[in-house]
Amino acid sequence: MIPGPTPVPESVLHALGKHPIGHRSAEFQSIVRTTTEHLQWLHQTKNEVLAITGSGTAAMEAGIINTLSKGEKVLCGENGKFGERWVKVAKAYGLDVEVVKSEWGQPLDIEAIGNALETDKEKKIKAVIVTHSETSTGVINDLESITKHVKRHEKALTIADCVTSLGACDVPMDKWGIDVVASGSQKGYMMPPGLSFVAMSDKAWAANQDSDLPKFYLDLKQYRKASSKNSNPFTPAVNLYFALESSLQIMKKEGLPQIFARHSLHRDAVVAAMKAIGLNLFAADGHGSPAITAIAPQNLDAEDLRKSVKERFDILLAGGQDHLKGKVFRIGHLGYVCDRDMLTVIAAIEATLESMGKHPTTIGAGVSAATKLLNQAQ
Ligand SMILES: *Cc1c(COP(=O)(O)O)cnc(C)c1O
Repeated sequence: MIPGPTPVPESVLHALGKHPIGHRSAEFQSIVRTTTEHLQWLHQTKNEVLAITGSGTAAMEAGIINTLSKGEKVLCGENGKFGERWVKVAKAYGLDVEVVKSEWGQPLDIEAIGNALETDKEKKIKAVIVTHSETSTGVINDLESITKHVKRHEKALTIADCVTSLGACDVPMDKWGIDVVASGSQKGYMMPPGLSFVAMSDKAWAANQDSDLPKFYLDLKQYRKASSKNSNPFTPAVNLYFALESSLQIMKKEGLPQIFARHSLHRDAVVAAMKAIGLNLFAADGHGSPAITAIAPQNLDAEDLRKSVKERFDILLAGGQDHLKGKVFRIGHLGYVCDRDMLTVIAAIEATLESMGKHPTTIGAGVSAATKLLNQAQ
């Protein structure tokens, strides 16, 4: 129950085990064609979605180096570990980074972003770079409102890390006008790690014409050119494409509204459960991500709880990152997760708290609260 790598369905695992085929073969081109179509469906975009062999960070880096130029000013939203990563990538390429910080656990300050854009009369800001679902804190940022401010500015692009939002909640790329969407296979895609995805709007492709940051393996022009021929510029992870074909089929069969509803229901169930148990949630009320819930238990080392849940029940929870280590544990409910998984993890946490003598309320309170919500949705 960590936010990635997430559980992988059996059919996706079986697809991986097929013998690799030539990446220039007609058979492989047909897989690229169908997976690209399905990726467009998932991103809710008419633009091509390009697959890169690499983890999510490759797609993030590609988004920056394919749209921006040396020394350009960007606005980075930072309210957690992955917001920090954006700042690091932007700085690594010598961009002039202005950071809009919020405390970890709080959502990004939309007004502050809006003000920074509004006072930029000389149109120096070339991109607003944000994380949609901040996995380190379990906060979902209001990406739709951010895109509205960016559109009013006209010049800037919205570059978004959607690694744990895509496939968990609505990310209508074209409707909201998100210019770059980056994601990775080991999250909502229900796949092993190894593929990352980047989609760019017409506005981002226009910016690509002038972008002078160094690039070769991650030069998206090459991927776009190859994609028009249902191909890749380099040897892709062929077997991961087999898995992608299978996982996207599962997602299409379930349907986007159903996938989003399942994730928000599981978020609501776990939030209700933790409140009923008497544990504090780390994310500000009402800003919890549908992909992951962070809990800050009082009077107890979160690492001790995590260790016991793993040893006794073989369920892996995620820990707190950096200064949150020991203070926070996180329950991933992203991708191939069902009601059974939710009730099991809640029960395991309750049993562990009880055996540590640290259950703040009555054993079963969490399971009961979650069950009520899950049953209502039946
Ligand atoms: C997992 C994750 C990433 C990508 O990390 P990689 O290890 O490079 O795949 C990026 N952003 C967020 C919010 C994530 O959860």
